[in-house]
Amino acid sequence: MSTLEIKDLHVSVILDDEKTKPILKGVNLTINSGEIHAIMGPNGSGKSTLASTIAGHPKYQIDSGQILLDGDDITEMSVDERARAGLFLAMQYPVEVAGVSVSNFLRTAKTAITGEAPKLRTWVKDVKESMELLRMDPDFAERDVNVGFSGGEKKRLEILQAELLQPSFAVLDETDSGLDVDALRIVSEGVNRVHDKTGCGVMLITHYTRILRYIKPSHVHVFVAGRVVAEGGPELADQLEENGYDEYLGL
Ligand code: ADP
Ligand code: MG
Repeated sequence: MSTLEIKDLHVSVILDDEKTKPILKGVNLTINSGEIHAIMGPNGSGKSTLASTIAGHPKYQIDSGQILLDGDDITEMSVDERARAGLFLAMQYPVEVAGVSVSNFLRTAKTAITGEAPKLRTWVKDVKESMELLRMDPDFAERDVNVGFSGGEKKRLEILQAELLQPSFAVLDETDSGLDVDALRIVSEGVNRVHDKTGCGVMLITHYTRILRYIKPSHVHVFVAGRVVAEGGPELADQLEENGYDEYLGL
């Protein structure tokens, strides 16, 4: 049993001219293993900033507050230390890595996280199985990471990583954006598989409710202007589907 705890987190983005702009204004959130938390809010409310801060992106500066994993503050950890501690982030805009094949990338990541290279025979089988479940053409294994991938293919690769790396917490930022109905279902099934198999905690960031038809959150948080303004169970997502975010914007 693991806990990811975000306590009164204030974060600024570091702009190109070195000035800073406050974005997160006191985020409080606790996720336990096995729970699925949907973070829902309008564009520009700071959801990706929260995800990037948890991942340790250098552009985001923590002004105050804490991020605790099983009681230990991770805010001083490097990005790779966080990954080894069991955090996984699927980004809203996955980066392209020319010259590195998907296959090499996945094996290197797995080795870095577990501290030893996975046994080739079982590893190749695991990759192949996961790719089949995500309806990915085997050719993708030899292509450069995300180079020329469609939006949907990039999202599948994110979930493939989660399946193989088996994190204790997965932060999924707009995993549903740009997916057609079939891809949305396949990607959602992938998330459910990772969750069921590993019992990981999931932070599912989205501004649409449609992914919640496939992935059932245990908790829903409404995120507006850099903080959580309302919390509830799955019924809160239904209310948002009906009424949108209007009633929360002035809070
Ligand atoms: P969301 O994911 O909820 O749409 P973001 O976290 O991407 O919101 O952005 C929140 C706010 O922070 C926006 O106003 C955005 O313009 C600003 N912001 C985020 N990153 C940067 C950046 N690198 N430079 C300038 N502004 C940024
Ligand atoms: Mg975003």
